[in-house]
Amino acid sequence: MGASFSVRWAIASCPDRGSSARFFRAAGYGKETPLSASQCNDSAVRRVDTLRISVTDRCNLRCVYCMPREGVPLIPCEEILRYEEILRIVTCGVRLGIRKLRITGGEPLVRRDVVDLVGALARIQGVDDLCMTTNGVLLREFAPKLKAAGLHRVTVSLDSLRPDRYERITGSNCLARVLEGIESSLKLGLSPVKINVVLIRRINDGEIEDFAALTERLPLEVRFIERMPAGGAPGVGQGCGDWKGQGIRAEEVLERIRRAFGGLEPAEAGVKIPGPARLYRLPGGNGRVGVISAVTAPFCASCTRVRLTSDGRLRNCLFMEESFDLKELLRSGASDKALEAFLKRAIAAKPRNHAAPFERGRRPMNQIGG
Ligand code: SAM
Ligand code: SF4
Repeated sequence: MGASFSVRWAIASCPDRGSSARFFRAAGYGKETPLSASQCNDSAVRRVDTLRISVTDRCNLRCVYCMPREGVPLIPCEEILRYEEILRIVTCGVRLGIRKLRITGGEPLVRRDVVDLVGALARIQGVDDLCMTTNGVLLREFAPKLKAAGLHRVTVSLDSLRPDRYERITGSNCLARVLEGIESSLKLGLSPVKINVVLIRRINDGEIEDFAALTERLPLEVRFIERMPAGGAPGVGQGCGDWKGQGIRAEEVLERIRRAFGGLEPAEAGVKIPGPARLYRLPGGNGRVGVISAVTAPFCASCTRVRLTSDGRLRNCLFMEESFDLKELLRSGASDKALEAFLKRAIAAKPRNHAAPFERGRRPMNQIGG
């Protein structure tokens, strides 16, 4: 992609449309069945190869579906994993088959010296894919340093292309900076550059077509994510009211795009694209558009990821409270061998699917890493 394009042209006006389609269907949730230890890394079942690393619970935005404006209780600094601790865990994980790393948060770019962490992770033999999920506010200034440090690609979370709406959702007026960050990432080849859009009925669902249109000209991957109940801290998500009435089903999104653009083609015919997104192309489109139907069609059977929270707990499933305290083990002086064995047991306990749609009393997304 040359330097001549701009994502700003895409800030279009499009009237909001509402519909009362019911979002939540508690279908497809089976009884929790743990994988056996020998299966956890066995291609016969699911090979767990992806680790999402939350490097902080702090964030410079307050998205209504994630963090309440008044803030959430923050994890004390001494409880947050140090970089050398993260590197030790990753090194053990790579020996167990972890190949893909995603750095997330909170907002990963607000953590001091995160570029150094990226550089150190990039140097670990066996890491094939190193990416970051960011809200993009600081991306313009960080993108060149991240690229130079060895980051492969970025996913930017962006829920509106309109300044007023962006401000309503995030509590900040940084839309222009985020767009510049996306542009800069495209120019630097931090690709595929992905955009995550969480849709909220009557707030930003009028922009589905605008977001999809970005992929006509630009080599972006726009993914619409079904809104999940954040739970956890009191007040989370209150800014947008009841999540059940306000989520938009993935199928509805696809139908709207088909109607607006006269069709949708599978992104790569016959090719199974790894990851939770179902991906398509607009007719003649340059980029890809996709949906992540975490609520209406969970993808447990193909989930090969585990999560490391910023306070050092391994979580096998975003939707379950169970976690394994790696930090305590690390700080009690455990050997690499002991750490590896613990990690192996923890990963082996990954359930085949989450028993219930969402457990109540969950930690907020900014702590788990989304
Ligand atoms: N701060 C970074 C960002 O926003 O990209 C990284 C952390 S954020 C928790 C990771 C992802 O989780 C974002 O794409 C965000 O939109 C998504 N997310 C947060 N809360 C969500 C919710 N309630 N439902 C669906 N997605 C959510
Ligand atoms: Fe921050 Fe990301 Fe949560 Fe928004 S979604 S409040 S940017 S952690």
